[in-house]
Amino acid sequence: MVVGSANLDLVARTLRLPGPGETVLGSDFAQHPGGKGLNQAVAAARAGVTVAFLGAVGDDDAGRTLRTVAANEGIDMSGLRVADGVATGRAVITVDDSGENSIVVIPGANARVHVDVLPAATVVLAQLEVPVATVIAAFAAARSAGSRTMLNPAPVPVDGLSDELLSLCDILVPNEHEVELLGGVDRLLASGVGAVVVTQGAAGVTVTEVPGATTWSVEAFEVDPVDTTGAGDAFCGALAARLAGGDDLRPAVRYAAAGGALATTSAGAVPSLPHAADIERLLSRTRRRAATHAIPQRPKR
Ligand code: ADP
Repeated sequence: MVVGSANLDLVARTLRLPGPGETVLGSDFAQHPGGKGLNQAVAAARAGVTVAFLGAVGDDDAGRTLRTVAANEGIDMSGLRVADGVATGRAVITVDDSGENSIVVIPGANARVHVDVLPAATVVLAQLEVPVATVIAAFAAARSAGSRTMLNPAPVPVDGLSDELLSLCDILVPNEHEVELLGGVDRLLASGVGAVVVTQGAAGVTVTEVPGATTWSVEAFEVDPVDTTGAGDAFCGALAARLAGGDDLRPAVRYAAAGGALATTSAGAVPSLPHAADIERLLSRTRRRAATHAIPQRPKR
């Protein structure tokens, strides 16, 4: 299950991102469902597992739009709270022609997400666009129910993450900027995290696990990126889905890396999240290429 944010995203495309005080002309505008929580719930559902979403929206059109989107993805929304007197969360996203983005998030109802009862789940996945206290409560409940916990620490709070939260994380999935802000992999493992999975964009993924702080890497899949929005969410959703499906961490990370790569090949967050069939196709294409490379050359007579 996913505990997290749901936003309606407003996406502007420009030749290049504006600097401070600068106005640039945009070439296109679109409105999409988003929020790291909802994105990752959709990514996990598309990767082929049953997903419940625990979050909050306002009693407004944006909230109704998001509920319809989630229902169409087959996500169980019985844990969604409709908060009074507050607007559904929004994100204002600018994407430039090279696929780079900048994002402003207005949390609205996401600040009201709280955990009463946590439905049974194999994996509980959260991010930090909802109150940290909510994530701690969800993970504490998950731990006592024997569920695995996975945190995508984004955005990193200004005062970092408490040892209380870190000690409740079986798997932490920061990107390369977030892991630096959090004081590095060693500090995270020392605080009780079971495995740190660092996503590094086109450079792939590096994983460090306890016991023994063993480190291994998974290469990125070769794709032509058009918009990197949603790569991290595709990765986290797919990783949680495969772990919930019983995969070990290494094959689950490889599957998630394929999901992250595919998410960069089309625009937007939710629209670009790949389905299991797309991910399987990329994995088998790469397996075939690897097998072809492994065939030894016959000596010429
Ligand atoms: P975030 O969006 O949180 O910064 P990343 O950019 O690290 O996350 O992307 C998550 C994962 O998606 C990466 O570890 C990688 O496996 C995959 N990915 C992202 N960008 C690319 C890319 N340009 N080419 C191939 N894979 C990518």
